[in-house]
Amino acid sequence: MDHFQYRNGELHAEGVALGALAEAVGTPFFCYSTATLARHYKVFEDAIAGLNAGICYAIKANSNIAVLATLGRLGAGADVVSGGEMVRALEAGIAPDKIVFSGVGKTRDELDRALAAGVTHINVESYPELDILSAASQATGQTADVAIRVNPDVDAKTHEKISTGRKEDKFGIDLALARDAYRHAAELPGLNVCGVAMHIGSQLTDLTPYREAYTRMAEMVGVLRADGHEITHLDMGGGLGITYGDEVAPTPAEYGTMVAETVGNLGCRLTFEPGRMIAGNAGILVTRVIFVKQGTAKRFCIVDGAMNDLIRPTLYSAHHEIVPVTEQQSGVDLLEMDVVGPICETGDYIAKDRALPPLDSGDLLAVRTAGAYGAVMASTYNTRPLAPEILVDGDDYAVIRRRFTVQDMLALESLPPWLESGSTTR
Ligand SMILES: *Cc1c(COP(=O)(O)O)cnc(C)c1O
Repeated sequence: MDHFQYRNGELHAEGVALGALAEAVGTPFFCYSTATLARHYKVFEDAIAGLNAGICYAIKANSNIAVLATLGRLGAGADVVSGGEMVRALEAGIAPDKIVFSGVGKTRDELDRALAAGVTHINVESYPELDILSAASQATGQTADVAIRVNPDVDAKTHEKISTGRKEDKFGIDLALARDAYRHAAELPGLNVCGVAMHIGSQLTDLTPYREAYTRMAEMVGVLRADGHEITHLDMGGGLGITYGDEVAPTPAEYGTMVAETVGNLGCRLTFEPGRMIAGNAGILVTRVIFVKQGTAKRFCIVDGAMNDLIRPTLYSAHHEIVPVTEQQSGVDLLEMDVVGPICETGDYIAKDRALPPLDSGDLLAVRTAGAYGAVMASTYNTRPLAPEILVDGDDYAVIRRRFTVQDMLALESLPPWLESGSTTR
């Protein structure tokens, strides 16, 4: 369920008409719905209500500070995977003690800054990171609350590029090495080793791999406790899938029940890190048709949004529903076309062989389910300014990231002295 619906023949974001919004802010743009963000957060919260648990929204899915502040006010903490994301979470008003720092390659500098900011929940993924974190916490006088991310060697059966829990994936410490890693961690000063963390992948549409992983997690807790470690905390990761096209994803309630069955009786505080499930359906990308080109083999609808704005189709072969902003008349014959951007790459497409109503230059399209891993993965390839982000709340909207300009980009670049005008050397 989302709040992007037709009213009087025009697609709206809550109470805001998208045609007028496109006139006001230009295209392409991302548009997020506060009511949808809140609804998804609430659904997840309800699903884990019976557990001793908290939600740390995985901010890499959509890290605009207005989105973070929206979720923060609902009670969300944050899962961050870089020093930059930590700054965003703090900037959005999320308390340091509600932030978890995850990631396979944290630098000493990032750990120093995290501890200095009071972000002490750290999910560690390797032996050298344990050593560096110990040194950092001794230097800052903080004690880091450590969960070791273990790799359960479970195939999440999701897209190759977002599967993280197999032993050939770079993430976590292999279960077979985990006992030794905890032994090592317990000997290091400055660390309070209290948790086990897992995150086996993203866009999971089947609970079976989760059940397998969480069952292994529960066994591991037993083993670690027998080894004398006080395990009080479990980080369950994120990854719950959503519906982009015809997938049937488990409901958060079904997920919650499975969690209760697998780890619910261990007496641990649980942290959940949903990202996509919160933000995915809460955003769309609005783009305008530049040209429609009929070839001998194909029809191309060339739009002003491109792979630099939304890389998921070409990176993950992802499907995104596309709907015209002006509601199509019933009875209109659909035409098959590729919806492509202007970038000089064959991989620059938003959809292939998609049935859409006849389109013309100037028509507006909405690419649905673009709220997660959309704007955050955007680039300026082909010197295309980053698209703006708009947040709607009821009948109100606000620009929460303005459109980049070419001048913004050029301002970061400079000529070396030998190429400055007037220079005659070389
Ligand atoms: C990416 C990530 C998440 C969120 O994954 P979603 O599929 O967006 O829910 C949670 N935890 C960690 C450690 C991650 O890297």
